[in-house]
Amino acid sequence: MIHVFNKCLKCNSEKYELKTIAFPTKATGEVKFSMDIYYLKICSDCGFTEMYSAKVFEKNEKPAVEF
Ligand SMILES: [Zn+2]
Repeated sequence: MIHVFNKCLKCNSEKYELKTIAFPTKATGEVKFSMDIYYLKICSDCGFTEMYSAKVFEKNEKPAVEF
C-alpha cells in the first residue's frame, strides 16, 4: 500500500483510511472516454479528506493535492 501520505493537515493525526475511486473522464473533442483514478485519504480522527490523483501520484514521488 501507499506509505508516503503526510499527517492530517487539520489535526495532525497519522491514522487514516485510504479509498480508491474512479471517475469517468471525457476529453473535449474525443469520443472515447477513460477512467481517472483518485485516492481518498480520510482522517480517522476528524474526517478531513484529501484527494490525490493517481495519475499524478504515480508520476511523482510526493503526491500532488487536488481539490
Ligand atoms: Zn484529522
